[in-house]
Amino acid sequence: MNHKHGAILVLSGPSGAGKSSIINEIIYDIGDCYFSISTTTRPIREGETDGIHYHFVDEEEFQRDIEEDLFLEYAFVHGNYYGTSIKPVRKALREGKLVVFDIDVQGNTVVNTRLGDITTSVFISPPTLSELKRRLEKRQTDSQEVIERRVKMAKKEIQRITEYDYIVVNDKLDDAANTLRLIAKAARLKVSHTDINEFVQEWEDIEQ
Ligand code: 5GP
Repeated sequence: MNHKHGAILVLSGPSGAGKSSIINEIIYDIGDCYFSISTTTRPIREGETDGIHYHFVDEEEFQRDIEEDLFLEYAFVHGNYYGTSIKPVRKALREGKLVVFDIDVQGNTVVNTRLGDITTSVFISPPTLSELKRRLEKRQTDSQEVIERRVKMAKKEIQRITEYDYIVVNDKLDDAANTLRLIAKAARLKVSHTDINEFVQEWEDIEQ
């Protein structure tokens, strides 16, 4: 079973859990991968670039993409639409890449339903809810109202943590990054049912 095959690594977790920092730590170690760039209707934030952080579109365009069945999954999160376009994902998988998604719990459910046999899912969590709040306040990018909303959302999201293969608690960045590095390496080795069946067929090379 040495031919190229792609795999998926789903990362979820509340904003403020440190997903981006952990990813930045490991990005050069996990080899040939494709970070899925989602499409969203949320307004662009300071420091973000269209086409790099997200594809920023209006609601009309997003609806058109839904009707044309262009999304692998999409969801309504924090009052905005977010979706994963299927085309670049297919291409990356064909090229044998590890496709990394930063999507919410709803997205994880859909990806697991559609591509579960090549998917590994990780929930990245802050050590506690109060630590999450402290980090969001320290970041100084959100109003108190937005922070309260994010904390509330995080409380909801953590209820679905059992739907994930792994939980990484981001207490110390180095430790969390080391753990995710290992998970990413294992995720790449996950083999689809089709590949397993092919392997068994090739393996049974003696007529009994
Ligand atoms: P933010 O607006 O802070 O960048 O992201 C808000 C939330 O939307 C995060 O939990 C993030 O994981 C999630 N998200 C981003 N892109 C997608 C996507 O394409 N699909 C889904 N289901 N969730 C997404």
